[in-house]
Amino acid sequence: MFIESFKVESPNVKYIEGGIQSVYNYETTELVHENRNGTYQWVVKPKTVKYEFKTDTHVPKLGVLLVGWGGNNGSTLTGGVIANREGISWATKDKVQQANYFGSLTQASSIRVGSYNGEEIYAPFKSLLPMVNPDDIVFGGWDISDMNLADAMARARVMEIDLQKQLRPYMESMIPLPGIYDPDFIAANQGSRANNVIKGTKKEQVQQIIKDIREFKEKSKVERIVVLWTANTERYSNVVVGLNDTMENLMASVDKNEAEISPSTLYAIACVLENVPFINGSPQNTFVPGLIELAIQRNSLIGGDDFKSGQTKMKSVLVDFLVGAGIKPTSIVSYNHLGNNDGMNLSAPQTFRSKEISKSNVVDDMVSSNGILYEPGEHPDHVVVIKYVPYVADSKRAMDEYTSEIFMGGKNTIVLHNTCEDSLLAAPIILDLVLLAELSTRIQLKAEGEGKFHSFHPVATILSYLTKAPLVPPGTPVVNALSKQRAMLENIMRACIGLAPENNMILEYK
Ligand code: NAD
Repeated sequence: MFIESFKVESPNVKYIEGGIQSVYNYETTELVHENRNGTYQWVVKPKTVKYEFKTDTHVPKLGVLLVGWGGNNGSTLTGGVIANREGISWATKDKVQQANYFGSLTQASSIRVGSYNGEEIYAPFKSLLPMVNPDDIVFGGWDISDMNLADAMARARVMEIDLQKQLRPYMESMIPLPGIYDPDFIAANQGSRANNVIKGTKKEQVQQIIKDIREFKEKSKVERIVVLWTANTERYSNVVVGLNDTMENLMASVDKNEAEISPSTLYAIACVLENVPFINGSPQNTFVPGLIELAIQRNSLIGGDDFKSGQTKMKSVLVDFLVGAGIKPTSIVSYNHLGNNDGMNLSAPQTFRSKEISKSNVVDDMVSSNGILYEPGEHPDHVVVIKYVPYVADSKRAMDEYTSEIFMGGKNTIVLHNTCEDSLLAAPIILDLVLLAELSTRIQLKAEGEGKFHSFHPVATILSYLTKAPLVPPGTPVVNALSKQRAMLENIMRACIGLAPENNMILEYK
């Protein structure tokens, strides 16, 4: 059965004016490796840590500024939200289609709240905590191409034509602000697009982005802003001692107009200085060590990297299942071809390399979790190929071959073929990223013994379900397995309303 909403009644939860307070017992373990009677032994000691959570329930009016607003993702997301807000439906050759938010974890998935008369009861994921309604988001952003969003939508060839016709009047007047363009960081084939660029030194460019953010906030009357990079994939920037390795060096390098500071890092600096959450949806290393230090020092949320939309999402499910079942993947080969502008940009070796790195570490945590299957340091062969094929446009093809060793030396090969409009996968993920980033800035917590409440660590691991190469604070384990990432997010939200983690034990019926 499905219910729309619920309220928790417990001595551990207080719904107060403007907020929810909860007390939560975090059941965890402490591991000790100690010498007992001459031999080293692992000892696991269960422990309970009491946490308190405070969630501000005032849902702000949210502005979302996209870097690369006029791209396929930017125009698809903007059009999709308008279509939902306006209740637009359109004729396809199959049926009359209604706008929806399918593919969004927050808007279209559900959570289990318990059993009632022998039936499992589910509620919308978004009913866990008060969240911004995507229909109410005000969009804006930058693009190095000055094309208005209606023409950009037509250029993208993603939306059905009847839908495009209805959206055009809403999107024609949406024109991206000039962006920071540096041809050294993206493919040369993007040059013809760059007719809308911010002039000046890197320092002046950062100042312009700050000015743009302030003006947007003023004009659109939003209370909070989230900025998200969905612009072209850049090449990796070199991390060099003295250049971008520390906060001071990074800021000094901006002042000196150093060539190796990338446009994405400049946008991110502006956001951190303005205390505006910044999310990186592409694979490049925007978050150089100096920037991470700056974000931590300013306690300003950063999250990334690279939307986990298609092939990698499947991989982080399938390999988790195989390794979890005691099956040993030995070779994973992934081919992609796509014909959109992202594909054209990725046809340059330096930008492809960023994507290859981001796609390659995704099975590491699963492989290292099973020492029965893999020797220390052993790893499956893992190859990623991406080709640009203009004809298929945004309808990306992903073909994967997984070969595994099974019982008694047997071999098992699984082959997948996935065809899908890339931007229709990415747009709801962008939505989740901005909604969850905003929500996480309203949550405060403290463990017992900690004097004061604090926000989550500014490096937002809570967003990792949505990213291919989750950015984590220095010294923190990376979790790629999709089910664990989802459970982490859901269980943290449950903790905020004093509910235990979903443990799937269903002991009531045993
Ligand atoms: P796109 O090429 O259609 O859009 C990118 C836009 O960014 C273009 O309009 C371009 O003019 C603009 N741009 C480039 N550099 C800029 C800058 N410095 N400042 C402002 N604007 C700039 O690409 P897309 O299909 O929308 O994908 C966007 C990004 O998302 C890509 O990097 C892609 O790798 C990444 N990504 C996409 C998916 C997906 O679509 N499923 C998944 C993971 C990651």
